[in-house]
Amino acid sequence: MIKSKVFRIESNMYYAMPFDNPSRVIRSTLRGRFKNDFKIKRDKLYVTDICVVGDLVDILMNEDGTGVIQKVYYRENHLSRKAPRVKGVSFRGERMEQVIASNLDRLYVITSFNRPEFNNKVLDRFLVAGESSRIEVFIVMNKIDIAEEHDLEWIEFYKRLGYTVIPTSIKTGIGIDDLKESLQGKTGLFWGQSGVGKSSLLNKLFPSLSITTGDVSGSTNKGTHTTASVWMFDVGDDTYIVDTPGVREIDPYGITKQDLSHYMREFVPLLNQCKFNGCTHYHEPGCVIYDAVENETISELRYDSYLRMLETIEEGMLY
Ligand code: GDP
Ligand code: ZN
Repeated sequence: MIKSKVFRIESNMYYAMPFDNPSRVIRSTLRGRFKNDFKIKRDKLYVTDICVVGDLVDILMNEDGTGVIQKVYYRENHLSRKAPRVKGVSFRGERMEQVIASNLDRLYVITSFNRPEFNNKVLDRFLVAGESSRIEVFIVMNKIDIAEEHDLEWIEFYKRLGYTVIPTSIKTGIGIDDLKESLQGKTGLFWGQSGVGKSSLLNKLFPSLSITTGDVSGSTNKGTHTTASVWMFDVGDDTYIVDTPGVREIDPYGITKQDLSHYMREFVPLLNQCKFNGCTHYHEPGCVIYDAVENETISELRYDSYLRMLETIEEGMLY
């Protein structure tokens, strides 16, 4: 049995790197029994979520050099979102969990100041997803070279909440070294809206990756990586990057109305002071969060984000 780490999944094939020889690639399938488990669930996404990028697995080798995954080890953590609303991915009307990757040290939420415009509500959703997965979150604010003066205030805004914010530009090179340094020896996942410059940043950090960026048109190079699926790269020195497809926005998964406030950093110290247990900080009397917004200790922008997310958590549903 060969203990390995899954770094890529495509058309039901699982590509893994053995621990004792990370440059080797084992192409594997899943042991049949996993698939039987899945059939009971009757949900397409479960197939991929049995084993995701970042999982540690035991592989039994076939004679032809391919392998069969026998066991998926317990995940230290995993990042997920609600599966998009498309046919075949809901179960009794509830949207399922889509696991993006596992065993992560860091989540880098990539935003941009311009093209696309900075959107704090979208960022807050990514942050909540990260906080609820107990993964350390970093915010990258890219395209600082085309930022408007007033946009720069977002840097301090999120720093005040306690986040590490790294302003970057691939045009001027600002922040690239800081970003690279923070990744050293870690497994970091890059997540963000399409067009923010995620691929460009990764190429700038690690030129050997050659990820296709939005600049490329027409024929694509053979051997370049497109981010159509989640893909983990070994960039040396025990450092791994997980690249993910760009998304429009996300709904964090597995959060109840009562829990949501626990993932808004600056709310946390106040939470047990509300009059009612299980306060959702919306209309309940004696709510300290509401008071904090009134006296501006909590930003109204963050509170608005909170309320928007609260609305999207379906009443009566588990998540
Ligand atoms: P992705 O969808 O997040 O992977 O974005 P891409 O890396 O494909 O970049 C989208 C567009 O933004 C491309 O035209 C890039 O050249 C441009 N871009 C990326 N980073 C920067 C930056 O720091 N400054 C400026 N001005 N443009 C950038
Ligand atoms: Zn409250």
